[in-house]
Amino acid sequence: MASPSPPPDHADPDSDSTSRPGIAAFDNRRDQTFPVLTSAQIGRVATVGTKQRFADGAIVVEQGQSDVPFYVVLEGELEFTSFRSRLEQPVTVVGPGQFNGELSLLAQGHSLTQARAHGETVLLRVEGGALRSLVQTDSELSELIVRAFILRRVGLLSEGYGNAVLIGSDDSAQTRRARSFLSGNAYPYHYVDVDRDLDAKGMFDDLDVAAGDLPILVCRDERVLRNPSDLEIAEVLGIGSPLRADLVHDVVICGAGPAGLAAAVYGASEGLDVLVIEGTAPGGQAGSSSKIENYLGFPTGISGQALAGRATIQAEKFGARIAVARRVQRLHCEETPMRLTLSEGASVLARTIIVATGAEYAKLTAPGVQRFQGVGVYHAATAIEAQYCGADEIVVIGGGNSAGQAATFLARTCNQVHILVRGPNLSESMSRYLIRRIEEAANITLHVSCELVDLEGKESLEKVTWRHGPTGRTTTRAIRHVFMMTGARPRTEWLRGCVVVDGKGFVPTGHDLSAEDLAVAGWPLARRPYLFETSRPRVFAIGDARANSVKRVASAVGEGAICIQLVHQALAE
Ligand SMILES: Cc1cc2nc3c(=O)[nH]c(=O)nc-3n(C[C@H](O)[C@H](O)[C@H](O)COP(=O)(O)OP(=O)(O)OC[C@H]3O[C@@H](n4cnc5c(N)ncnc54)[C@H](O)[C@@H]3O)c2cc1C
Repeated sequence: MASPSPPPDHADPDSDSTSRPGIAAFDNRRDQTFPVLTSAQIGRVATVGTKQRFADGAIVVEQGQSDVPFYVVLEGELEFTSFRSRLEQPVTVVGPGQFNGELSLLAQGHSLTQARAHGETVLLRVEGGALRSLVQTDSELSELIVRAFILRRVGLLSEGYGNAVLIGSDDSAQTRRARSFLSGNAYPYHYVDVDRDLDAKGMFDDLDVAAGDLPILVCRDERVLRNPSDLEIAEVLGIGSPLRADLVHDVVICGAGPAGLAAAVYGASEGLDVLVIEGTAPGGQAGSSSKIENYLGFPTGISGQALAGRATIQAEKFGARIAVARRVQRLHCEETPMRLTLSEGASVLARTIIVATGAEYAKLTAPGVQRFQGVGVYHAATAIEAQYCGADEIVVIGGGNSAGQAATFLARTCNQVHILVRGPNLSESMSRYLIRRIEEAANITLHVSCELVDLEGKESLEKVTWRHGPTGRTTTRAIRHVFMMTGARPRTEWLRGCVVVDGKGFVPTGHDLSAEDLAVAGWPLARRPYLFETSRPRVFAIGDARANSVKRVASAVGEGAICIQLVHQALAE
């Protein structure tokens, strides 16, 4: 069936869960979604705005328009509609004291609706830059406006109103990639599943496209993109900030996981010109977690995407620019200012750089691994995962200490734990004490020279198959949980030749850099590197990409905040 974009829980200010209000959300919390400003509040907006008059029926904002001003209605009304399949659908109407806009106004994105004057209408017009200054300096207006913008985006997400219709198949990996990019960026879209939607065939004929073109993105009924890349989607829909090749940014933060987003919030709020470059969508590894329960301040837990959504809005509110679907490919640290080349040949200039590109658990290539991420395939074994497993039979893959710790921890609650390792034994890769515990545990079985070959299931994992290499014999068992503890690989390849990395590619900083490291790197300053500074002055590393960091959301966030102090010091030199 055709459906709106999925879970709109990215930023709902009052919801940590995955509630899905429809446009009814507009009604449920109408006062907060469409607040009426008092005359004192309008007076404060008026100090940065100008009056503009529109005749009845005049188009004030086109759907898809960029650089949309913020308008407060003084007289008359603004009627909002959204076009889909050339049909204009009503969204809402606002009157005196109320205002237009949703999150794309803060992010300088394209308008998701059309606004038309209803009756003779007088508006107070505020340009984008002045709006951002207003929400940074006037906390009362900031709370009203930002909350309303968030709630409106939640409503648009749940209805799929906006500029995008995605036609695809849930069986297509490219469709899943496009869907995950759109929802990772909290972008509303209308989804048509060719396998289930009866109208899909007619749409194919109208658009002159074929099943091999999937997914198809129809943008504002005008542009049809066949199997677009994430960057093409971002550019055509105006998701994320455009790049400015002419600017030298105070700090370019590479990666929008918890570490990068925290650095963006602190940097922008302290007046730095901040650009964040993110390869896909904000959130990082944390974004792949359905519930983070150990992050301070969220006693009932918060989904990684909700946390990232909030942090993204917070960073944008303070003026940080976040470019998505852009991978950093190389740092040219020998140039002044430093230059980063990005995918698709773009480049940006920076006085300081923060490396926050995190790490990625090695993903095995067996069928189903990608599909069951989070629904049977895990990369951490904490109390939460133990709860998911209950007393079930489980598989742990890997021969390192993290696999050994996971197996012994989970054996306390699970009936049966299978450890799969490729090698002939554990002795080379795991600490002796862990090997002894595994040998002594009656409910742990070690399968050497084995590899995973298949994962099966419908909504979630149901069956696991592995093969014993020397004999070729396969074993299939009804197992619903697989722990892939195959080692985290830092995403720091793009730093090659610029900063010292350790044997595994993690970036040592501050006191972790030996005199020899600094000599090899040609450290040019009389002072030693600051706490999170790498072997190259003004290049910092934080979060999971940093050598010896604690691989946790809270520590990544803390390092992001601290690092901005060090950036200030480096910029002042
Ligand atoms: C499934 C899962 C569940 C977890 N649950 C918890 C938990 O409950 N509690 C907890 O404390 N920790 C948890 N963690 C660990 C936690 O998520 C990480 O420690 C944290 O996300 C690290 O943050 P980071 O910003 O350093 O890196 P990351 O989260 O890895 O973010 C790095 C970002 O950089 C981007 N990037 C990478 N390379 C490039 C490039 N070349 N150019 C541009 N962008 C790039 C990535 O797309 C990503 O968005 C979990 C991890 C996983 C995988």
